[in-house]
Amino acid sequence: MPESGEELSLSVAEAASLRQGFTYCPRCRAAMVNRPVYGRVRRVCSDPTCKFVQFIDPKVTAAVMALKDGRVLMVRRTMAPGRGQWCFPGGFMEIGETPQQTAARECREESGYEVEITRLIDVFYYEDYRGSGVLIMYKGHVIGGQPQTGDDSDQVGFFGPDDLPDLAFDTNRQAIALWQEGKLPDE
Ligand SMILES: [Zn+2]
Repeated sequence: MPESGEELSLSVAEAASLRQGFTYCPRCRAAMVNRPVYGRVRRVCSDPTCKFVQFIDPKVTAAVMALKDGRVLMVRRTMAPGRGQWCFPGGFMEIGETPQQTAARECREESGYEVEITRLIDVFYYEDYRGSGVLIMYKGHVIGGQPQTGDDSDQVGFFGPDDLPDLAFDTNRQAIALWQEGKLPDE
């Protein structure tokens, strides 16, 4: 039976989010379908007496633009999206951790460096083939550690504003642009 939502046009991010939805209803175990409800296509339980709706939210990520001696810390990615390109250390928030802790933890895991988070740079919205997300980007500085790659990085480096590698993400490009224009918050 065709799912009613398939007739509607969806953005790439919306379609990706729906694909990550439940196959079976967690409340009554009936099949979940794509159906317009509350103003957009959502994963909805097919049982008319249950009507469970799965609200699929953007993922929340945090990253740090960590500076040392006028250069910024970046890691080269081993995972899609942006495999082989560079980005600031960052990743998905875990339950029980603040976004500042996420950024510092991801920095430690991906680069080997300890950072002190000092300021918020901006909050970015992004979309990719996985769905949509919110990136909370901090400024920080390196306070210790040694370069060490992690599960999703295979190189660690510091780069000047005129000496940048191939960047993986628009959000990182936007923050770099602020840096090059002298518009980053102080500290
Ligand atoms: Zn159900």
